[in-house]
Amino acid sequence: MAKIINGKEIAEKFRNQIKERAIEIKKRGIEPHIALINTGDDPASKIYIAGKEKLAASVGISSTVHKFSNDTEENEIAELIEKLNGDEKTHAILLQSPLPRHLQFRRLVDLIHPSKDVDGLTTLNQGKLFTGEPTVAPCTPLGVLHLLHTVHENIAGLHAVVLGRSSIVGKPLAQLLLNANCTVTLLHSYSKDPPDICKTADLLISAVGKPLFIGSEFVKPGATVIDVGISRIDGSKKIVGDVDFEEVSRVAGAITPVPNGVGPMTIAYLMHNTLGLVV
Ligand code: NAP
Repeated sequence: MAKIINGKEIAEKFRNQIKERAIEIKKRGIEPHIALINTGDDPASKIYIAGKEKLAASVGISSTVHKFSNDTEENEIAELIEKLNGDEKTHAILLQSPLPRHLQFRRLVDLIHPSKDVDGLTTLNQGKLFTGEPTVAPCTPLGVLHLLHTVHENIAGLHAVVLGRSSIVGKPLAQLLLNANCTVTLLHSYSKDPPDICKTADLLISAVGKPLFIGSEFVKPGATVIDVGISRIDGSKKIVGDVDFEEVSRVAGAITPVPNGVGPMTIAYLMHNTLGLVV
């Protein structure tokens, strides 16, 4: 049976380090602050925002939730972002996705000043990640890398296969793995024979969003499997990942569960990145 990578426990330890750093920053007379922008009535976003608020408070970071209704005009959010950019008490700005359909995420996220872009999603910060300059990287990929390092002291030279190529997870994760000297293969919905390619992976990371998509036929015996996916079954509160945990844990060397895998790491890195933006 595979070793279970307990993201909840790992995130808890990491949060204690973040708490210590927040205390040090406060000794300098600075109150770290994150602005969370929540638009529309997506039920999952509501839960995520509440979780972020709670975690921020628990590590000593203050937060403000800026709530916009489903029919908000793009310019109203743009005005808030401009205001927060100029507010010296706000160190970090998060634009929660998904946005209602009539709003353009890329346009709005690029209004965030790169020095306050806590999830590393502005074009400038993503560009820096791809050219290898120091920057803020997106939280979920950072969390995945952290989990990989709890199993592998050194991932250089390992073959990492990432399923999914979004700007928030798959692509930045592939780049971080490349920066860590992995051999990286990035798969997407047009990729042919995903199981055959995945079976060559030492590190298999799935960020597709299809419940139980990854079965044992995708997994090389002994591989480390990280499940980023979160799907709700039939609109219920029960969440499942991309990976068929029961089946794959019989083949993999190490595996993350859902819940309590990548999710807690993502929020912990949001706090880590917030402190990183305090100058
Ligand atoms: P997304 O923007 O919908 O991207 C999904 C990606 O999966 C796309 O690149 C798509 O390819 C690819 N894909 C679809 N079918 C595929 C297939 N059969 N084989 C290989 N790739 C395939 O989603 P996302 O925002 O990256 O999120 C992915 C999942 O992670 C979701 O379940 C989301 O809820 C979850 N998530 C979890 C956390 C966390 O903290 N745990 C954080 C963020 C996201 P194309 O580009 O060709 O369409």
